[in-house]
Amino acid sequence: MSDSIVFTHPEPTPTATRVWPVFLPFAGCPYRCAFCAQDKQTGRDEAALADILRSLESDLDQALARGKGPYEIAFYGGTFTALPEPWPETFLGLAARFRERGLISRVRCSTRPDCVSSDVLDSLRGLGLDMVELGIQSFDDAALITSSRGYAGEVARCACQWVKEAGLSLGVQLLPGLPGDRPGLFAADVRTAAALRPETIRLYPCMVIKGTPLAEIWKRGGFQPWSLDHAKQELAAALPLLWERNVRVIRFGLAPENSLRENILAGPWHPALGQSVRGLALLEIVRTRLVQTGMRPVSFSVPRRYQGELFGHKGELTDDYRALGLGRSAVRYTDESDFTLA
Ligand code: SF4
Repeated sequence: MSDSIVFTHPEPTPTATRVWPVFLPFAGCPYRCAFCAQDKQTGRDEAALADILRSLESDLDQALARGKGPYEIAFYGGTFTALPEPWPETFLGLAARFRERGLISRVRCSTRPDCVSSDVLDSLRGLGLDMVELGIQSFDDAALITSSRGYAGEVARCACQWVKEAGLSLGVQLLPGLPGDRPGLFAADVRTAAALRPETIRLYPCMVIKGTPLAEIWKRGGFQPWSLDHAKQELAAALPLLWERNVRVIRFGLAPENSLRENILAGPWHPALGQSVRGLALLEIVRTRLVQTGMRPVSFSVPRRYQGELFGHKGELTDDYRALGLGRSAVRYTDESDFTLA
C-alpha cells in the first residue's frame, strides 16, 4: 500500500482572457431551431444589427478611455458566418480597429456547421477572426434529422476540419439529450468531438423552453428531456476523455439568466451545473486512485482553486467523500498545484 498519492487535476490550464460577449440573437439563422430560445437565454431581444454595432462601438470607446482590457470579443447568439453582407466584415472591422488600439486581443464567433465553407473561413480569418465555435449539437445523423437541424453528421465533421485548416481555433457546442437521443449517443458524440481536438467545448443539455417548437412537441408527449441526475452523470463521465485530449470545457448548461429561468418548462436545469458536474468528475478521480492503490486515506490536500467544487454544489458529495474516509476535517486547502492523499 502507498504512503501517499500525489496527482494533478487532468484538466487543461484555463485561460485568463476576459470575454466581451456581443449577442446577436438569431441574426443570420436560416430558421429557428426547435430547441433554441436565444432571446430568453441571453436576455436580449432581436435587435437591428446597426443598433448593436452603434452601442458596441460606444461601449468599446468607453472601456478604452477607462484603460480597461484587453478582451476577447465574442459574437454569440446567431449564425455569424451567414449574417447578410456586409455585417461580418463590419463587425470584424470594428474589432480590428480596437485591436490596433490594444483593447481587443482576440475575436471569436459562433455559427452553424452548415453555414461555413473554406472560402468564407479564409476570408473571415483575413479580416481578423481567430476562433469559430460551431453549434454542432450532435454528429449523429438520426438525431440531427429528428432535431430538424438540416445537416448530416459528416457536414459537422467537415466543418470542424475546415475551421482548423483555415488556421482558426475550433470550439464545439453539443446538445446532450437532444430530440432523437438514445443511450450511448452523447458518449459517442464526445468521442467524435475529442478526436477532432477542439480548443474548447460547451455542453448544453437540452431544455424545453417556453415559446419554442420543442415546447409544443413536449406538451404533446413527443419529447422527454434528460433528468438532472442523468445529465450530471453523463456530463461528468464525458470529462476525463475531453481533459485527456486537452479540450477545455468552458460551459455546462445554459447561463442562469432570469429571463431563462422563468421560461423553463422541463429539462435538467441547475443554477450551478458546472460546479456539480466538475465535483462529480473529481470525486471519480479520487475514488479511482484509492481503489487502484487500496489506500485508506486520513488526509487530503487540495489546491485552493478546487475548494468551491470539491464537495459539489451545497456539499452534495460530502457523504461520498466520507465513505472514502475523507470527512470534511480531513481536507486541507493549500497553495500547491497537486492533490495529495495520505
Ligand atoms: S440554435 Fe443556432 S442556428 Fe438555431 S436558431 Fe439558435 S442560434 Fe440560430
